Amino acid sequence: MQAFEYVRPDDVADAVAMVSADPDAQYLAGGTTQLDLMLNDGVLEPERLVDITRLPLRGITHHEDSLHLGALTTMEELAADATVSERVPFVRDALLAGASVQLRNMATIGGNLLQRTRCRYFRDTTVPACNKRRPGSGCAAVTGAARMHAILGASGHCIAVHASDLCVPLVALDAAVHIQAVDTARAVPLTEFYLLPGDRPDRENVLEHGELVTEVVVPLLPPGARSGYLKIRDRASYEFALTSAAAALVIEDDTIVDARLALGGVGTIPWRAREAEEILTGARANTDTFRDAAEATIRNTFTVPGTAFKVDLTQRTIVRILQTVSGAWS
Ligand SMILES: Cc1cc2nc3c(=O)[nH]c(=O)nc-3n(C[C@H](O)[C@H](O)[C@H](O)COP(=O)(O)OP(=O)(O)OC[C@H]3O[C@@H](n4cnc5c(N)ncnc54)[C@H](O)[C@@H]3O)c2cc1C
Ligand code: SF4
Repeated sequence: MQAFEYVRPDDVADAVAMVSADPDAQYLAGGTTQLDLMLNDGVLEPERLVDITRLPLRGITHHEDSLHLGALTTMEELAADATVSERVPFVRDALLAGASVQLRNMATIGGNLLQRTRCRYFRDTTVPACNKRRPGSGCAAVTGAARMHAILGASGHCIAVHASDLCVPLVALDAAVHIQAVDTARAVPLTEFYLLPGDRPDRENVLEHGELVTEVVVPLLPPGARSGYLKIRDRASYEFALTSAAAALVIEDDTIVDARLALGGVGTIPWRAREAEEILTGARANTDTFRDAAEATIRNTFTVPGTAFKVDLTQRTIVRILQTVSGAWS
């Protein structure tokens, strides 16, 4: 591990200025990804670590139709919020399906959005071929063993999954990310925040160096909407998703009048299933409809031998979550 300077400002403008002015500076929030990649894996080697945990960005503000989440709110704090349980319960379900209670007490919402991939080749610096870690070096996962990898949004340059559970319901809800730069602030829809790998998998999102995520705004579901999160994984807890799905439906007289669906574990970015939503909206809530929606979602996949099983598993995951949320099992 290389030596680094550690600083802990208590002002947002100071923190943003420090990182923006120094290409070798990085932010530290709960540290559950950042310190892992620095101390255990040696993938990140900042010369300056700017600890943001003293910034006034922790807490949840309740508005009539939305929640404003300070970027330093922990996963556990968000999961315990009564409005989350009442109005967007699939956000709570996704949070509680992730990591462990100890990690969730440290991990922040901003850090969760910005967590790095779990691709084992990315995290192993003895593997030379990783376009995300060393642009232009190739992709060991495309030719090697791959299982926890993406089939949607992937390319021959990178098949790494975005591993967040939380982001799956958040993209379904059209959450927005608020970003602070040195002189400006902006808001970006979460559906536009992440970049597909294309031939530049090292560029993962729209943030410029030094930009700080300050807040995430989460619209609430309308009263009467039903929602759920299903995570399929190799063991029942403390494991990342092979596939996951977040669904929210408004159903009137057996007809779906509003549908939101997003997927995790299968996309290089948290995956909004818009083709499925179009099929679902206005259709009868039954298994035939759900199968049509699932089939439309996985038409353009990129698979390698180790991930081919995910095509079928993704469809089954979609059908199951839609059956569960709607209560329509036939
Ligand atoms: C063993 C283990 C199991 C896990 N299982 C799951 C799981 O099942 N599901 C799941 O969703 N996640 C899982 N995680 C990931 C975990 O949720 C993330 O590590 C955590 O949310 C990151 O938050 P943090 O505050 O610790 O971020 P940090 O580790 O401090 O930071 C992560 C990254 O984001 C940057 N960053 C942090 N905050 C900001 C900000 N406000 N603005 C700009 N940049 C910022 C940092 O520079 C760093 O690059 C797991 C992690 C571990 C270690
Ligand atoms: S899938 Fe992406 S992160 Fe993994 S080895 Fe290939 S380029 Fe690197």
